Amino acid sequence: MVKVEVKYTKLFINNEWVDAVSKKTFPTINPQDENVITNVAEGDKADIDIAVAAARKAFHRYSNWRTMDASRRGMLLLKLAELIESQARYLAELETLDCGKPVKIAEEEVYYSTSVLRYYAGKADKILGSTIPADGDVLSMTLKEPVGVCAQIIPWNYPIPMLSWKIAPALAAGCTVVLKPAEQTPLTALAIGALIKEAGFPPGVVNIVPGYGHTAGAALTHHPDVDKVAFTGSTEVGKLILGAAPVANLKRVTLELGGKSPLVVFNDADVEKAAQIAHAAAFANGGQCCCAGTRTYVQAGVYDQFVTKAAEIARNRCVGDPFDDVQQGPQIDKEMYNKVLSYIEAGRAEGARCVAGGGKLDRKGYYVQPTVFADVKDDMKIAREEIFGPVQSVFKFDTFEEVIDRANDTNYGLGAGVITNDITTALTFAKHVRAGSVWINTYDHVSSQTPFGGFKDSGLGRELGEDGINQYLEIKTVTVALPKIPL
Ligand code: NAD
Repeated sequence: MVKVEVKYTKLFINNEWVDAVSKKTFPTINPQDENVITNVAEGDKADIDIAVAAARKAFHRYSNWRTMDASRRGMLLLKLAELIESQARYLAELETLDCGKPVKIAEEEVYYSTSVLRYYAGKADKILGSTIPADGDVLSMTLKEPVGVCAQIIPWNYPIPMLSWKIAPALAAGCTVVLKPAEQTPLTALAIGALIKEAGFPPGVVNIVPGYGHTAGAALTHHPDVDKVAFTGSTEVGKLILGAAPVANLKRVTLELGGKSPLVVFNDADVEKAAQIAHAAAFANGGQCCCAGTRTYVQAGVYDQFVTKAAEIARNRCVGDPFDDVQQGPQIDKEMYNKVLSYIEAGRAEGARCVAGGGKLDRKGYYVQPTVFADVKDDMKIAREEIFGPVQSVFKFDTFEEVIDRANDTNYGLGAGVITNDITTALTFAKHVRAGSVWINTYDHVSSQTPFGGFKDSGLGRELGEDGINQYLEIKTVTVALPKIPL
């Protein structure tokens, strides 16, 4: 067993490490062996009040942060990226300990996250307004200003990337932040808190308060002094957050929620390659991915061949100790583990054909076999609900029109994929599918430069790219009276 030192377990407020006002702590569990890793300070409303006050003070118009050159904000983000990179292996191991993802993948995620920080570092001094030929004897222009104090609530499936998606655009824009990591995975956010201080961000600019959703999370989303909430997690909680937003004040809200994304394989595809892409789409991060391509639609001409291949790849997927060279570790916690297993049971009970996996692994920890169901029907539970585990559902289809309707027959709209060699088929699919990201002959390619977010119940607003920073900016129109010519 790899030994990973846990250095930070307190709340990070005003660049200081503090206990919760209540002095309460909560355990964080190792999903690999179900043991307590450590106990972490449990923030709730009283701590959120203190953190929000710190963020508000740091946002005061004469504060160090507000008077800092935009280029300097960018340099601080660059410094943070450098510090995170210098601790990439440690952060990856801490992540693996806390959330069970393979350490090799956790390390890739650390590097990916620094690319997000660097992308937004470059944006900090390129936030441009416009000049507008307004009617009348005036000159009008727009200024883009930081929205203010931002509550950022993140999930457990990609703790470091989600932290980077949240803090990087907010800080580049000049906002201040109170971030609540998921209760399952508080450790890496706290470790990055130490690096935020070391990078030189002034006190109060970033505050990190671990705690539970219904206490610390809800206190943030109801707080009258929070200007914006950015949330990633379940659609159910997303709807609560949207409901809370206008209660105390009119908070801006961005939501990145669940999905049930379709991936469509046409007859002309290379079946071997298509099965590999579809496998990665469904099983990446043990299926704990909001845009996982869990509904694989395969055209009748290649269906049988595809099912055989998909089952073979799933059976060969290497699952085990995430500190070893594996593709998949345990699921995040007991609740999700039981939930995934109950979906597998539901698939069987409703008559889908299980061609790979189909149960738990015979070992301690929350391990689930990579599972493939064939002959799935559109009205089955496994076809309609987000499972968030290593389960792929394969459906047969005949025509393009049919598959577009079936792909869109969901309340979600986060991702979609198409595998074909026909450019017209690919682009027509991309045009008609109702999803925030469409991947052609690839899947889940998400980079700092491209906006990401959902249609329908999959979310509100976009993260990453130019659109991502705009969600942290208010537009102010300034109009100046000019004398009529000639003077
Ligand atoms: P969740 O939505 O309950 O939790 C996500 C974050 O929201 C956590 O930080 C949590 O503490 C916080 N939260 C929970 N209730 C809150 C509330 N009332 N007010 C404010 N914050 C609150 O997600 P979960 O319980 O970890 O997982 C449940 C389901 O969510 C999964 O099965 C999956 O379908 C989905 N999920 C989606 C994503 C995604 O990336 N879109 C990530 C994780 C989970």
